[in-house]
Amino acid sequence: MAVLEVLPYPNESLRRKARPVTEFDASLARLVADMEETMNAEDGVGLAATQVGVDLQLLLVHPYAFKGDEARDEPVVVVINPEIVWQSDETITAEEGCLSFPDVFIHVARPSKVRLRALNLKAEPFEIEGEGLGARALLHEVDHLRGVVMIDHVSFLQRQRALKKHQKHQADLAAEARRKAAKANKAKVPTAG
Ligand SMILES: [Zn+2]
Repeated sequence: MAVLEVLPYPNESLRRKARPVTEFDASLARLVADMEETMNAEDGVGLAATQVGVDLQLLLVHPYAFKGDEARDEPVVVVINPEIVWQSDETITAEEGCLSFPDVFIHVARPSKVRLRALNLKAEPFEIEGEGLGARALLHEVDHLRGVVMIDHVSFLQRQRALKKHQKHQADLAAEARRKAAKANKAKVPTAG
């Protein structure tokens, strides 16, 4: 297993429409295992394949989103080729984050309940319902598979504010990486004497 790089916005992979999964083989299982490790390493509630540069209709949601703390040790929910079969007219506006926008949180209105039909890792069909955070996580990740990101759901001004924060955070990360690289280079210089 490996922790994969989560691509930050505006990586073009985040705007791609994912293809349906057709091969349920060992490499798909490996991808799911790597995505699970990545999601946990980044403390995410969900992760879509497009966020790690794979254009397949595959998303993971942490069971925490459906059952809260008591589900901490339950297996991750694997959702393949999802279809929204029903969503409530009632919406809830709540704070939302995204691993592709680290450190950015915005208020997004989403249906309060949703039901999806999908396949599991063995290509068996199942239905899953989410309410509150569960619905929000499922819909956020389904969006990713359609090339939609959370800032697409808010007003122009909110989007500008979120992007400004995101760009500043990305610049800070780049500066930090440069500092680390410079330090590592320095350490490698052999000392004469
Ligand atoms: Zn996201």
